[in-house]
Amino acid sequence: MKQIIIIGGGAAGFFCAANLDEKKYKITILEQNSDVLQKVKISGGGRCNVTHACFDPKELVQFYPRGNKELLSVFTKFQPGDTMDWFEKRKVSLKIENDNRIFPESNSSQTIINTFQNEIQQKNVEVKTKCSVKEIEKRDEKYLIKTSLGDFEADFVIYTTGSSPKSLKMIESLGHKIIDLVPSLFTFNIKDDLLKDLLGTSFEMAETSIPKLKTEESGPLLITHWGLSGPAILKISAWEAINLAKVKYNFEIQVNFISKDIDEAEELFQNVKISNPKKLIGSSKIFDVTNRFWQRILEVSKVDPNKQIANISGKEMQTILENLCKKKFQVTGKSTYKDEFVTAGGVDLKEINFKNMSSKLLPNFYIAGEVLNIDAVTGGFNFQACWSEAWLIAKDLNNLN
Ligand SMILES: Cc1cc2nc3c(=O)[nH]c(=O)nc-3n(C[C@H](O)[C@H](O)[C@H](O)COP(=O)(O)OP(=O)(O)OC[C@H]3O[C@@H](n4cnc5c(N)ncnc54)[C@H](O)[C@@H]3O)c2cc1C
Repeated sequence: MKQIIIIGGGAAGFFCAANLDEKKYKITILEQNSDVLQKVKISGGGRCNVTHACFDPKELVQFYPRGNKELLSVFTKFQPGDTMDWFEKRKVSLKIENDNRIFPESNSSQTIINTFQNEIQQKNVEVKTKCSVKEIEKRDEKYLIKTSLGDFEADFVIYTTGSSPKSLKMIESLGHKIIDLVPSLFTFNIKDDLLKDLLGTSFEMAETSIPKLKTEESGPLLITHWGLSGPAILKISAWEAINLAKVKYNFEIQVNFISKDIDEAEELFQNVKISNPKKLIGSSKIFDVTNRFWQRILEVSKVDPNKQIANISGKEMQTILENLCKKKFQVTGKSTYKDEFVTAGGVDLKEINFKNMSSKLLPNFYIAGEVLNIDAVTGGFNFQACWSEAWLIAKDLNNLN
């Protein structure tokens, strides 16, 4: 029986093992830590955001700043609907939340871990923990895998080590090109009077742009202790991960808190001026923002909240509107989003055959997961890439004669 060695007992490695034909292969997973699936365990705040309710591959790839072109063909073969089927066939109920993220009904990542563990037990997959792979050597038709627990021989290697620099060095030494690692998916550090002490204030729909990079995003926005977060920030951080690293996370960002064009906002303001001239500006809710934020807008705009709306000057109105719709902030650094470290960079995608995730340089060698130069915005997309890629590998190997 031919031997498959899977290097890395994470999301991609386990999903691959769970789909391989155990009648055809002897399958072994080598994991350097004492526990497997550690990232799955802590994922989604311990709930594991397994995938995202987006079932059109063309739409789905829009969530991947790196890998969008290459993943299109992968998702036409295995996409979130297939992920849902896969788990549901194994009696895992999944639920779609309002924002389309998909979680196990149990709200526990342990459900996902248990499912993988059951699958690989049934398939007699051997799991060797505390087994750190140090070197891989090509020997005629086979590979010799040198580890902290001795040497292993493999007919096929599946490389799913995540993005640790050591594991990237190891695959680089086999000839693969590595695109430099940079963090993706982070929040912006900003010190500004408009945001001070407003931790937790959120905006349903905001627009963010980085004028220097001619880039913009939209989505919910959140004020944090350090500055700004939420999808409108995380998306821009992922798409511009490389450029923002180049400017050392020092740049200007423009925010439209109400996602309205300034002229449209002015019209709304004027309408309220006509309909409620005697009302005090401090107690008028012209725009859909929290009361605390509205008071702060008036404060930084130097407008007396006790003034009647009719008496607000044109200049005062413009200052308010500029602070709401065109506020510029200086970003001075970045912070991690809920401990979710995602890295851009990894094995160069030009060297991968996306029909089956095999290496174009090394025979009988497959690569999947975060070790590749693929990453997504938050929402279950990073796992979906792992499931889809791993499924393709298993299918390819299962179909070999
Ligand atoms: C806190 C957090 C929360 C997250 N939440 C979500 C979420 O809810 N939804 C989502 O889609 N994505 C989420 N992500 C991203 C997601 O976890 C990763 O994209 C995914 O785990 C990548 O899977 P992988 O199998 O490629 O790598 P990993 O899961 O990192 O697995 C790689 C494994 O290989 C092992 N390994 C590495 N080198 C060696 C070696 N030399 N020898 C032996 N073993 C080795 C590692 O120890 C590890 O166990 C989250 C990430 C973090 C950090």
